[in-house]
Amino acid sequence: MRHLLIALACLTPVALTAQAPKRWKAHDPERPKPRVVTPAAAVGQPPSDAIVLFDGKNLDAWSSETGGKPGWTLRDGYMETAPGAGAIQTRRGLGDMQLHVEWASPSRVEGSGQGRGNSGVIIMGRYEVQVLDSYQNQTYTDGQAGAVYGQYPPLVNASRGPGEWQSYDIIFRRPRFGADGRVTSPASMTVLHNGVLVQAGVELWGTTNWLQYGSYTAHADSLPLVLQDHSNPVRYRNIWARPLPPVERPGDLAESRPAMVLSSAQLDAYTGKYVDGKFEMATVVRRGNTLLLVMPGSPRRELRLVPVSRDVFTLGRTAGTVEFSRSGDRVTRMHFLFAEQDRWGDRQP
Ligand code: MG
Repeated sequence: MRHLLIALACLTPVALTAQAPKRWKAHDPERPKPRVVTPAAAVGQPPSDAIVLFDGKNLDAWSSETGGKPGWTLRDGYMETAPGAGAIQTRRGLGDMQLHVEWASPSRVEGSGQGRGNSGVIIMGRYEVQVLDSYQNQTYTDGQAGAVYGQYPPLVNASRGPGEWQSYDIIFRRPRFGADGRVTSPASMTVLHNGVLVQAGVELWGTTNWLQYGSYTAHADSLPLVLQDHSNPVRYRNIWARPLPPVERPGDLAESRPAMVLSSAQLDAYTGKYVDGKFEMATVVRRGNTLLLVMPGSPRRELRLVPVSRDVFTLGRTAGTVEFSRSGDRVTRMHFLFAEQDRWGDRQP
């Protein structure tokens, strides 16, 4: 029994640590380095880490909506909707991502309003960025090219003419849902149409719908990207996506906790100005039971010193350590190590 208790006592903190989310201090050297991505030689081409969904050679990454062969026509470097063949969708799921799509409405203008070059980039099969020939073509504004269909008109009409290749660059964040299925964070989109900002981080009100606003229903984190067949022959080429990691928020910052409690008299032993030759390096002040490292300059920077052992402190929300040395009982020097600085300062008498 005793052994079991010791084993449990040893295991529990490990289990808790394993579950704790990663938290970072300011300038934390442990924070993972961003991956190196080689940008494409030409604007719009896929960077090194993109998932190429269509490069003009085949439709291997795509299926019909029922999982069969896609019914669209592959031509010289592009694909074209085959009116009546239905939508196509990626075989893989996608969620948070940067998405690049190029499209062209028919060069011969037929129809008007929503009937002219209509298709759509429908992210997760739910959230549509409208594809439409909106060059000198009037329709309801939340249904023109660059609109989040039925929700947000584009900020400007950046359309090129019929038959010309156009691009969408979309930054999409999927909605998040709680255990009860309610949305805890709505989907959001930023869209550039031919390099011009048309949607700036708009929060979606729910699934795309016609005639009325949709609402959210809980869904998977990753779902196929759909291209709409709206019975007009629209062309697509050069489609790629870069899945994005989740966003870290300020509330996720790490913070040190003291390993020991020092009395006011013990804390006062460290206070005073520390200089590196002629230069003021930092001043240590006590405020109540807290020791602060005040950096020179503006704005005023106060870093909380958190004791971890005798004369050794870590910084509250900044990655680094400060270690004091003594001559006899008297604190005489400070060694600080943070944000690529490794400096010594002498305490002024
Ligand atoms: Mg559409």
